[in-house]
Amino acid sequence: MLAVVVILNIMCKNVIPFEDWKKLGEEKFKTDDVKQFRFKCPNCKETQTAQDFIDAKVEGASEKFFFSCIGRWVENRGCNLTLGGLLQIHETEVVTSDGNNVAVFEFAE
Ligand SMILES: [Zn+2]
Repeated sequence: MLAVVVILNIMCKNVIPFEDWKKLGEEKFKTDDVKQFRFKCPNCKETQTAQDFIDAKVEGASEKFFFSCIGRWVENRGCNLTLGGLLQIHETEVVTSDGNNVAVFEFAE
């Protein structure tokens, strides 16, 4: 049973190297400034950028904007979601240069 869950988990996810992911973002948003990339919370569908986090003075913004809904820190926006909980609802994982898989929000339209 556990094996089935693990296989399903792998099949449902896009796992891509950071460089490829960044390239996709650059093409989509027509900028190489990751701070302008727009992400969509898979729970509440709020969209957010790293710049939003910086503007809101969220501590550690650079590690949060692709991973946690801005609603955790900013009133009247989004929700409380952060990836990495027990419930795995993310679709994409980025492989960092040191070989870790990091769950990320999808790019917004
Ligand atoms: Zn949210």
